[in-house]
Amino acid sequence: MGRHKRQKPRRSRGGNDPSATEWFGTAFHSTEGMYHLDVRRSGNGILITSSPAEVDGLPAVRPLRLRNDDNGQGLDELGTALATGRPHGISVEKGPAFETALVFIPRYPEEGVGTLARVRTTEGPDADVVFERRAELPMQLWAEAGENVCRIVPLLGPDAPPADKPEDCRLCPGCYRPVYDSTTSHTLLGAGAVPVVGLCRLCAEGTTLRSLHQADVPIGPQQLAVLETVAAALV
Ligand SMILES: [Zn+2]
Repeated sequence: MGRHKRQKPRRSRGGNDPSATEWFGTAFHSTEGMYHLDVRRSGNGILITSSPAEVDGLPAVRPLRLRNDDNGQGLDELGTALATGRPHGISVEKGPAFETALVFIPRYPEEGVGTLARVRTTEGPDADVVFERRAELPMQLWAEAGENVCRIVPLLGPDAPPADKPEDCRLCPGCYRPVYDSTTSHTLLGAGAVPVVGLCRLCAEGTTLRSLHQADVPIGPQQLAVLETVAAALV
């Protein structure tokens, strides 16, 4: 994998500030484009959404909701593993001859990249290991996400409402970042000459396009068209 450039993530702290319970980061890759990772409180748990931004194909989003059933211990352990780049596994489902687990594999499939995956292991004569879902992202992005998991866990609170269904997210048409209703840096541009809705704030402000130019990162033609439309409207 080529070089990575990082955008400084926005973060804020504070008691009732809704942005205290969310974080997102973007990594710019010289050949692969943008990677997004979003961490937020979702009821009595944490929602981690990874979005490798495809350059030519369809954007893929992978929301992963982790319940807090043990006073934050399990989430803290995962967050610490991500933050320190250590392997970690959580058993999700166990049957007579199979086990499904959520695993973090640092420096896999190559140096500088880590994989968070749901893996199904079967025993017996058909023994097999299958990656049911996986997200491969720069280690640095996982590390920051892990720090923020640990930061947000104490803010979950014992009386947080259980949310069994993750919130729906849309993809920002400019950068394919996952945008939730609770995303505080979310903006809508609908009125006026620019028929573009659902842009995240970084795209609406022109920050994404500037970062892409600075880092010389590839971007899909549709996304570029959206960002250039916005840039023209900003002038
Ligand atoms: Zn965007």
